[in-house]
Amino acid sequence: MNEFIRPNLTPPNGQKKVLLHSCCAPCSGEVMEAMLASGVDYTIFFYNPNIHPLKEYLLRKDENVRFAEKHGVPFVDADYDKDNWFARAKGMEWEPERGARCTMCFNMRFERTALYAHEHDFPVMTSSLGISRWKNMAQINDCGHRAAGRYDGLSYWDFNWRKGGGSQRMIEISKREEFYQQEYCGCVYSLRDTNQHRRDQGRPPVVIGTQFYRSNEDPDST
Ligand code: SF4
Repeated sequence: MNEFIRPNLTPPNGQKKVLLHSCCAPCSGEVMEAMLASGVDYTIFFYNPNIHPLKEYLLRKDENVRFAEKHGVPFVDADYDKDNWFARAKGMEWEPERGARCTMCFNMRFERTALYAHEHDFPVMTSSLGISRWKNMAQINDCGHRAAGRYDGLSYWDFNWRKGGGSQRMIEISKREEFYQQEYCGCVYSLRDTNQHRRDQGRPPVVIGTQFYRSNEDPDST
């Protein structure tokens, strides 16, 4: 953890207790180590019913559990209520990535995170989702602020985890830890679209459970 030089982080309103919504180990690795380096007292909240199929969900979750245990960080394993996710996604099956379906997906995950934060006295929530270069950070921040705004005394920390070398450290940590490397965003529709893109390029479809970060590679997906 000491191999990186990072700025000292201060959560909103000088708070030290944070609930971190985590989407996966590669995205949360840098966020976790950055908060540890600044002495932020945080808990991971893993709520991602969007991830399909179950095999992929368990791979992503287990990697995150492994890394949390390594650092002694509390990990809340929330529901895999995929039926609710599919119900909310109805009619948005053909939305492009970063579109309305993704807003729904972020809203759903952050609403549950905010509820848990409210019920367990966390004054601040944040997320690893925005560190990925594939995501629209403004879209994520809007959803985060909206969810936190449902409860008095709860703030969404919209820190840009990419800046100050965060994106590069995210990749270096992923390689160091040899994390499982997911090859699509998460839902069945993103898997479909990724496979279509790969077909168009003459590449084989995604094979779940086969791709891991290794040193001397240039990862092209998180
Ligand atoms: S593409 Fe990603 S963010 Fe968008 S709905 Fe699917 S899993 Fe959620």
